[in-house]
Amino acid sequence: MGTAITNNPPRPEPKALASALEQLAARFGNRLITSQAVREQHGHTTTWIVNQPPDGVVMAQETADIQDVVRICAKHGVPVIAFGTGTSLEGQVNAPAGGISIDLRDMNKVLAVHAEDLDCVIQPGVTRKALNEHLRDQGLFFPIDPGADASLGGMASTRASGTNAVRYGTMRDSVLALKVVRGDGEIITTGTRAKKSSAGYDLTHLFVGAEGTLGIISELTIRLRGIPETIAAGAVSFETVHGACQAVILAIQTGIPVARIELLNAAQVKACNSYSKLTLPETPLLLMEFHGSEIEVAEQSKAFGEIARECGGGDFSWTTKPEDRTKLWQARHDAYWSVKALRPGDSIGVVATDVCVPISRLADCVSETEEDLKRLNLLSPIVGHVGDGNFHCSLVCDTNDAAEMARGEEFMHRLVERAQAMDGTCTGEHGIGQGKQKYLKAELGPEALDAMRALKKALDPQNIFNPGKIVPQA
Ligand SMILES: Cc1cc2nc3c(=O)[nH]c(=O)nc-3n(C[C@H](O)[C@H](O)[C@H](O)COP(=O)(O)OP(=O)(O)OC[C@H]3O[C@@H](n4cnc5c(N)ncnc54)[C@H](O)[C@@H]3O)c2cc1C
Repeated sequence: MGTAITNNPPRPEPKALASALEQLAARFGNRLITSQAVREQHGHTTTWIVNQPPDGVVMAQETADIQDVVRICAKHGVPVIAFGTGTSLEGQVNAPAGGISIDLRDMNKVLAVHAEDLDCVIQPGVTRKALNEHLRDQGLFFPIDPGADASLGGMASTRASGTNAVRYGTMRDSVLALKVVRGDGEIITTGTRAKKSSAGYDLTHLFVGAEGTLGIISELTIRLRGIPETIAAGAVSFETVHGACQAVILAIQTGIPVARIELLNAAQVKACNSYSKLTLPETPLLLMEFHGSEIEVAEQSKAFGEIARECGGGDFSWTTKPEDRTKLWQARHDAYWSVKALRPGDSIGVVATDVCVPISRLADCVSETEEDLKRLNLLSPIVGHVGDGNFHCSLVCDTNDAAEMARGEEFMHRLVERAQAMDGTCTGEHGIGQGKQKYLKAELGPEALDAMRALKKALDPQNIFNPGKIVPQA
């Protein structure tokens, strides 16, 4: 099952690959794994993009392991693909030219927490939930929340964000400095713990979002936040998606400092009710969260309730009780699985689209998209981080049904074209990987692609780091 990717980069010579595997086996022993099952787990497994497994997987435990894998692979011209937790959605961890996956999950140490400076230094395999567990006793948290329990190395590499980005920004805003293993195995340091810096080219932000195509991140210094005194969460239903989006636009434009503002269209609410055993009214819904003092969250909730009413919303009910908040947000985080459960079957695939538009165009973009789905007779609940103008259609198609797949492809093209025509982007947070390469030229122009190719060539002249991702071959 799955959609095949064409335009794959060439595989290394079989002899070169065999020599690399031999040297890796000598260096890593049983930490080099070549079983079919483990290799497949390290290819893409999350959407209908076809699985392309690597030739071997090395379980790294320290920076020296990454350096040695890179040196051995570079010597033999064998690709190296970093692997965090494999939750990326655009085929980022696939190995279209084969090669070695470096699994970083055992590099999961928090190296230092500087509570007084609100930052910490971590290894790349630390996951966001593990980090927040570690920080909780110190009254600190790391706010970027892509739903999945992703690794911080993977999140930096996809420039991830999620439900909290409207208030706390994305990984772009959260990474202060990186250590990156480059193609000859040496380490680049991109910054310090200083909150700002004008020291030369901004290498930190070159590697943030590079999807492992320029080097392997071996250490991250990231910003932290204080856990807010009070957290209030609430929900409000609307008659139309347009009304819900108008409420979001007004809330953002009037400067209410919402921490999260998520849209679920009627189809998504229905899926969540069924999957998470909820009884929400099956009309468009906004889920909100406010952070601050008790007085602040009460004021923010009241101000938002008034906006919601103006835009045709029902009563805005909110709570500061942790168990009620958790139930609502768990349902939101399970949205993807709730959609999968709607249409079970081996040949059924789900793809999460990821357009993002300027906030003033959000209502038009979502409404036109819903009309298109109806016209094309496709099942695709909509959920989104609408405070940023970012929303996901979870498109469900039978990969054995050519006609349905063709309609799905048409829908995705039209959605991206619509967002780009509104000055938006094909991907707000999932990245380009393999799936979105076809949209990059229309979005940024051929000159930008040339600049990306030049950067890639300068930093990875052998094209060993995650080949076949982000920049389409010329
Ligand atoms: C149910 C679900 C919901 C999701 N919701 C969101 C969301 O709301 N927002 C969002 O942003 N994303 C979301 N995602 C996508 C995914 O969680 C993110 O893309 C996440 O950042 C991937 O992290 P990972 O650790 O799984 O990385 P992986 O998938 O393992 O890797 C992703 C990319 O980063 C590279 N990489 C990994 N580690 C390193 C490293 N140390 N150095 C260099 N390159 C590296 C890999 O080679 C690959 O190209 C969702 C995914 C799922 C399954």
